Amino acid sequence: MTIGSMENVEVFNSEGKGRGLKATKEFWAADVIFAEPAYAAVVFDSLVTVVCHTCFKRQEKLHRCGQCKFAHYCDRTCQKDAWLDHKKECSALKRHGKAPNENIRLAARIMWRVEREGSGLTEGCLVSVDDLQNHVEHFGEEEQKELRVDVDTFLQYWPPQSQTFSMQYISHIFGVINCNGFTLSDQRGLQAVGVGIFPNLGLVNHDCWPNCTVIFNNGRIELRALGKISEGEELTVSYIDFLSVSEERRQQLKQQYYFDCTCEHCQKGLKDDLFLGVKEDPKPSQEAVKEMIQFSKDTLEKIHKARSEGLYHEVVRLCREALQKQEPVFADTNLYTLRMLSVVSEVLSYLQAFDEASHYARRMVDGYMKLYHPNNAQLGMAVMRAGLTNWHAGHIEVGHGMICKAYAILLVTHGPSHPITKDLEAMRVQTEMELRMFRQNEFMYHKMREAALNNQPMQVMAEPSMEPAPALFHKKP
Ligand SMILES: [Zn+2]
Ligand SMILES: [Zn+2]
Ligand SMILES: [Zn+2]
Repeated sequence: MTIGSMENVEVFNSEGKGRGLKATKEFWAADVIFAEPAYAAVVFDSLVTVVCHTCFKRQEKLHRCGQCKFAHYCDRTCQKDAWLDHKKECSALKRHGKAPNENIRLAARIMWRVEREGSGLTEGCLVSVDDLQNHVEHFGEEEQKELRVDVDTFLQYWPPQSQTFSMQYISHIFGVINCNGFTLSDQRGLQAVGVGIFPNLGLVNHDCWPNCTVIFNNGRIELRALGKISEGEELTVSYIDFLSVSEERRQQLKQQYYFDCTCEHCQKGLKDDLFLGVKEDPKPSQEAVKEMIQFSKDTLEKIHKARSEGLYHEVVRLCREALQKQEPVFADTNLYTLRMLSVVSEVLSYLQAFDEASHYARRMVDGYMKLYHPNNAQLGMAVMRAGLTNWHAGHIEVGHGMICKAYAILLVTHGPSHPITKDLEAMRVQTEMELRMFRQNEFMYHKMREAALNNQPMQVMAEPSMEPAPALFHKKP
């Protein structure tokens, strides 16, 4: 496999969407179209002491920068690699006394880079930071106010001996961060840990049913093909999760990214019938459907509240009750049912009630398979979690099947060198061996499983996170 370079793409004018990128040759599923290091990136405020400021890996023990005592690194290598970007930041942090928020820190890193290299095209970039969209003219009153506060704080933080930028330019940079800031995840892809600017990625337009996906791996992003892409075809990624009816997706995109989605799935409302699916036989009355939707919305709100307070048993109780009530009304692809299934399987796994969790997880995966693109990264991650839950519950055949399925998806969306794909490969090998043993000698299988569980070769379930599917770009919803 060759790593794509910028020779594989070309900037063009995409009708109705402004600039876009198109392929200059044919691609197949799992091809890397291009890889791009961050122009500038920072760790989120809440994680500055637990995530490396250079490679964005979560680590047990990090070394602190002796000067500012703010920056944290894996080791000397990461610290050395950071110095060019950190040098001016380090003294600014000392002078300022305390670290400003992530937006300000990112803006300053971008501007130190502009100061260092000029504002023209950087090597390997098809667009300069100056030329990225900022959408400041679309800002509402609230956003305008936040922008003014950010600019004020920035001016206090920005050292007087550094290059002076106009107010307009500073606003532009904050606008760029607001619409192009890409969410960086930790090495296992489980937690959003920071935000970065990737100019080339900023040129890739949105489609709710895209032909590419973006993954952050080892300090850079990769644009990967989800299927065959013909020469000359526009390259697209999805800025949001697919699992909402088209009207809601369009609202979300308009609100967060300031455009009206005209993709085929939105125009034709493709899959909306499945998202809103109701039972066929007997068909519930319209009144019953309406009532069930309202009940589901109310319950989801209660679930969200209970979950944020850590009342996991209450979450489970609410989900069980809702799923039972939804049963005679909603089809298995209905989004309200799928949201309950997703929460309850995740929380039950966390509570180690694997058997009950595994049944809900299976139903969820069955529904997802009918809705998502077969190579969707969210689908791959959900199938992986469901596979692990089934493995923990001792359903080795289902568990192994799901882990294989997840592995196949992640080979496309994450690539073979990504840590999660590697984890999955190890799980696939182990569950395959267990399955063989299960078929030969069930007694031995259970003995071995016990031993395996005691050794904990598989990752323990993470505490259920509050975030739904992470957004591609770092936006306040
Ligand atoms: Zn590091
Ligand atoms: Zn420092
Ligand atoms: Zn769309």
